[in-house]
Amino acid sequence: MEVASILKGRNLYIPRMTYGGAKAFAAAVRSVGINGQLSPESSKRTLELAKHYTSGDECYPQQVTLGEFLQVMRSKEFVPKKTAFFMPTAGGPCRFGQYATYMKRLLRDFGYQEAIVVSPASDNSYDELGKEAGAELMRTGWRALVSADILRKMLLKTRPYELNKGDTDRAYEESLDLICQVLEKIGVRHKDRLAQLVDALTKARHRFRSIPARYDKSRPLIGVVGEIFCRLNRFSNDELIRIIEEQGGEVWLSDVSEWLWYTNWDQIKHIIRKGKKVSLEMLGAKLKNYIQKKDEHALLEPFKEDFQGYEEPEHVEEVLNYSKRYLPPRGCLGEMVLSTGKAIYLYEKGADGIVDISPFTCMNGITCEAVYPNLSRDHDGLPIRIFYFDGTQSNLDRDMGIFLELAKSYQRRKKKNRVYPFCFN
Ligand code: SF4
Repeated sequence: MEVASILKGRNLYIPRMTYGGAKAFAAAVRSVGINGQLSPESSKRTLELAKHYTSGDECYPQQVTLGEFLQVMRSKEFVPKKTAFFMPTAGGPCRFGQYATYMKRLLRDFGYQEAIVVSPASDNSYDELGKEAGAELMRTGWRALVSADILRKMLLKTRPYELNKGDTDRAYEESLDLICQVLEKIGVRHKDRLAQLVDALTKARHRFRSIPARYDKSRPLIGVVGEIFCRLNRFSNDELIRIIEEQGGEVWLSDVSEWLWYTNWDQIKHIIRKGKKVSLEMLGAKLKNYIQKKDEHALLEPFKEDFQGYEEPEHVEEVLNYSKRYLPPRGCLGEMVLSTGKAIYLYEKGADGIVDISPFTCMNGITCEAVYPNLSRDHDGLPIRIFYFDGTQSNLDRDMGIFLELAKSYQRRKKKNRVYPFCFN
């Protein structure tokens, strides 16, 4: 039986890698008749619970997501045959490839074999998702992730300057609800859904623009790179983004779509390595790239003025080229090349410091930490600091306070100036 039919009638739980992205993606899942649900929020208690079922050798994000799923399994409503867990996977040496396997083993050990784990792989740029739940979900899911990235960007560029605390968070929640209402509709043609999404995003833009704010050019801009889950999941990084804002900074956070563009790039390289440069497989990969780019442009269109100076690279190769000198992207794979390249991209955009958020013992973080001193030296002494997380952090306020002092001093002497959007006055 096809996985698509196995998923009918089940709740499919999406881990909160990013709160907004998971919420939007769950809505996209509902649009194909599968009951997509946001996994419950993590807490110290759920982390403790997950630690009970892990040895300590696992990555921190595995413990956090396991904690979310264990909450589902312990809830009164849990019925294994009506449940599925979403846990993508990846090949290569990164331990991410083990998350789904371990989850399946745990379900078996608990006697919950009827619950299933849905795990599309990064090797083929998550194309299996299309096979498992339909090409329609591939497209709506992509739009969900891009829209959620856009709203997070609006949140981060507005919140540090709001005059009334809480205004921007409220606008963000309302905007997320607006896009989810469009994403979850069943039986809408792609063309119509895109038009409705653009409309919802335009309303969201008005909502953000109407927030009373006082923009201040002296606030340092801190680029945040690092391991995708830990940098985007606010529980995992102990709300480091808010700490940066409270200590006087503004954050430019690397988004989710960056990773998906990277997996698309990797998929094409993989097809070439297999000697299939001219093949139907290559045609399919290129077509997917083309359609995704077209959708992304349409969704970003209403934000041209707002994102002036905050533009993401048009193609991921730009980031990979920046990384070349330190970590060649054809030899070093995965997030380490994105973090390194993006740090330089952000330097060019006038960032005043770079924070790398990584799980403790993450090989991506460790490799980046080795090249950051040279990268900083070659880029006017740009301050770069890595923060590792494993659920036992201590004085983040103090450490971030010190880092922001360095960023402010760099800001006074930097050679690469920021471009500000028109409303930033
Ligand atoms: S990137 Fe790091 S933390 Fe994430 S799965 Fe890989 S090794 Fe673990």
